[in-house]
Amino acid sequence: MGKGALERIPLLCEDMGVKRPFIVTGPRTINLAAQKIKSLLSLDERSMTVIGHGQVNAMLIQRLLKTVESNDMIIAVGGGRIIDAGKVLGANKHFMAVPTALSNDGLVSPFCSIRTNDHVYSMRGKVPDLLVIDADVVLSAPERLWAAGFADLLSKKSSHYDWRLAAERGLEKFDPYAADFVEAVGDSCLTGHHPFFTHGIGRMTFMVSNILISGLATLMHGSTRPVSGSEHKIAHRLYQLNPDGVLHGELVALGTICSLYLQEQDWEAAAGVLKRAGAPITAAELGISDDLMIEALSTATKIRPERHTVLEERKVGRRDAVQILKRVGILRRNS
Ligand SMILES: [Zn+2]
Repeated sequence: MGKGALERIPLLCEDMGVKRPFIVTGPRTINLAAQKIKSLLSLDERSMTVIGHGQVNAMLIQRLLKTVESNDMIIAVGGGRIIDAGKVLGANKHFMAVPTALSNDGLVSPFCSIRTNDHVYSMRGKVPDLLVIDADVVLSAPERLWAAGFADLLSKKSSHYDWRLAAERGLEKFDPYAADFVEAVGDSCLTGHHPFFTHGIGRMTFMVSNILISGLATLMHGSTRPVSGSEHKIAHRLYQLNPDGVLHGELVALGTICSLYLQEQDWEAAAGVLKRAGAPITAAELGISDDLMIEALSTATKIRPERHTVLEERKVGRRDAVQILKRVGILRRNS
């Protein structure tokens, strides 16, 4: 990690005895870093593929698994969905992740989201063997991606609560150490007195350290349970209902405000720090209709019903959803 980190990739590959790396990247991230890595490693066109937006689905992954059969390393260069593709493609070889933005918390978790037309499902892939974070690349990421990543980390405040709740009811296995880790991540985001708002190297190390801790908690527990509670159910339900143009962390931002309210935690402080970070805190800011938000909150228990959260306890109906969403300001109070 640091300035000029990309330049060290050839040496890292050499150290691992890698002979035939294959680069997976996206249409925007190809020029941010992937082309440079390709020329540093003197690779030809056949050693790189560009995955278009919204194309990371099960069919594409199957096709790419054949393409990379003879390669000994996958280098995933991009945002969350490209890194997730790398976790599956690199499962039986060396895997290097080169994030171009810190827009979600799954960087070093073995779990990845693969999409179908209207659904996201979680599957197990590989934790990167190598993580290369180039400061020049990551610090130039758009503010919107930073805000989404921050919201995904702040959401540990509610995922932690839900996990503890499920354990108290005797419904799910609990690991107090992993729980303490994710709670610390949520707390450090909520205080607001941290380097995220400095827009420099400190911001990057703040995000990376919290992403590492979150990933470690999923590894310790063996599932995404520590980092994904009711706020992720709401976010995934929103995604099912409206899959276009929104970032995972933006959906999680609205989910977290609702969950913290239901959990009687400090949702106002969370909304305040999310707003300051530039994340959406209203349906209008996210560009979705009131009706869709109401539908998502009142039907979020359809997502991962095996995970017990505050949503299962409070049984939020449509009328409750309207009240809650107005109370927390996600919907306009006079609408
Ligand atoms: Zn998330």
